Amino acid sequence: MALIVQKYGGSSVADANGVKRVAKRIAESKRAGNDVVVVVSAMGDTTDELIDLANAITPLPPSREMDILLTAGERISMSLLAMAIANLGVEARSFTGQQAGVITDDVHGKARIIDVTPSRIQAAIDDGAVAIVAGFQGVTQHTNDVTTLGRGGSDTTAVALAAALKADVCEIYSDVDGVFTADPRIVPSARKIDRINYDEMLEMAASGAKVLVLRCVEYARRYNVPIHVRSSFSAHPGTMVMNYEPAEGADEGADVEQPIIAGVAHDSSEAKITVVGVPDVPGTAAHIFEVVAGSGANIDMIVQNVSAAATGLTDISFTLPASDGTLAMAALSESQDEIGFASLQYDDTIGKLSLIGAGMKSHPGVSARLFAALSAAGINIEMISTSEIRISVVTRSDQLADAVRAVHTAFDLDSTEDEAVVYGGTGR
Ligand code: ASP
Ligand code: MG
Repeated sequence: MALIVQKYGGSSVADANGVKRVAKRIAESKRAGNDVVVVVSAMGDTTDELIDLANAITPLPPSREMDILLTAGERISMSLLAMAIANLGVEARSFTGQQAGVITDDVHGKARIIDVTPSRIQAAIDDGAVAIVAGFQGVTQHTNDVTTLGRGGSDTTAVALAAALKADVCEIYSDVDGVFTADPRIVPSARKIDRINYDEMLEMAASGAKVLVLRCVEYARRYNVPIHVRSSFSAHPGTMVMNYEPAEGADEGADVEQPIIAGVAHDSSEAKITVVGVPDVPGTAAHIFEVVAGSGANIDMIVQNVSAAATGLTDISFTLPASDGTLAMAALSESQDEIGFASLQYDDTIGKLSLIGAGMKSHPGVSARLFAALSAAGINIEMISTSEIRISVVTRSDQLADAVRAVHTAFDLDSTEDEAVVYGGTGR
């Protein structure tokens, strides 16, 4: 008998039929003899609709109230799901994040989990009931205010509960069959990955792959929680995200061979700021990035040109989430005289492609092959950054999908089998 935490995303419970379909799956897992804890997201696009509603009231909703509003979405789905499971003759009890013991810091809208004390969940399990937990929410340690964990945060709830309950596995159900070598929405020939390690999955999530949120993967790696990503619409085996290293020197065949490239991720949610005519003297970069950090923006790539000898001036470009762009630009403008740069440029028509694979550490020629594929497709590279197991390039946003397809093909990632299926979701 195993203890399984299952998480169902919004597209899996988009309507009453979806809730009933998922309930059947849960009842089957329970009847097979497992202890089952379920984390559920808000139905369909509920979270977006609640955000729209708040924005129709006020352009800047207070973050505390926003969090209470958004947690309502998950409370609807958790109670309906508990009813649907009870209908199938299996006892189920739903719990809010607070009731489930999800304790967070007090950063509304993107709170971090600092502790999970799931005594009520454990009690429900001990009573033989299925526990249903509202995803994406918690409560602050000191003030008992309700918080949310940031968009897609139900994945994190599921992994955090799995860690606290010492579950055997955390199953994350969504509308695709697992983790793919690229987003099947833009690369229909993307191949499902059977197994991927935490480091590669972290880079994929950080580089825009939406199948799992970054914090959930960070959490899983820290607590060594195996994640099984699969579809609630099919019975396919999905993808295991877990710690594995190819056994050193072992030659027992297929199982130990690690592919060079895990996949190609893309992200079109970033913008680029160029600070033009920066005095090339010590301390200027520090000053610029202090100002940007002060605006709350998270910086991604940075490029600085060599300064022109005649002028002693240089340009510094960096990328950041487009949603942080306005505040960062305002903060820089305000400090223009102090820092002494000439002007600012803002560009939100960029896209970022990232090639990820632990095998690139030990295989030469990966970047050459990447750049050759992009040039053959007529795609210009504007910025480059690398980590040990990732190469990222910035392109024009309208060329990003073509770039992803070209690179996917160049690294022989295209599947020869049927096209990847996207079962649901509005992609909102
Ligand atoms: N309902 C929240 C969202 O849409 C959390 C989640 O889906 O994981 O972002
Ligand atoms: Mg959602």
